[in-house]
Amino acid sequence: MNVLSSYAHAASIVTPESLTENTLASLEQIFTRPLVLAAFDLIDRSNVLEYSSPGGHYYQVFGSTASYQVFLDLPSPTPAYCTCPAFSYLLLSPESTLMCKHILAALFGRKLGRIIQRQLNPEELATTLLQE
Ligand SMILES: [Zn+2]
Repeated sequence: MNVLSSYAHAASIVTPESLTENTLASLEQIFTRPLVLAAFDLIDRSNVLEYSSPGGHYYQVFGSTASYQVFLDLPSPTPAYCTCPAFSYLLLSPESTLMCKHILAALFGRKLGRIIQRQLNPEELATTLLQE
């Protein structure tokens, strides 16, 4: 498994109906417990926003020192992308099954319906993307 297949696996096992102890245990097995806890911590702090516009959508995840943009549902071969340095590093490590906490937070938050939604028109979306 690499970083992207572990993401696909996580996406397939988390559903709003099945966030059980078993699901959490499976996630911790793939990504490690600290990473899974860090992702849920971001969700609990309402640090995950979804910006949507008629042209598409992306997520903004606020960390303690910086905020990053997360893209899910991209065409293969890279179904998810984050602008943080950790994710670029992970992509270059073919053996890594870790994932950055921002992508996990966006993925889990979306599955569980716990993401703050913002609507943008296309001009606002372009401006937001250019600023960061
Ligand atoms: Zn990240």
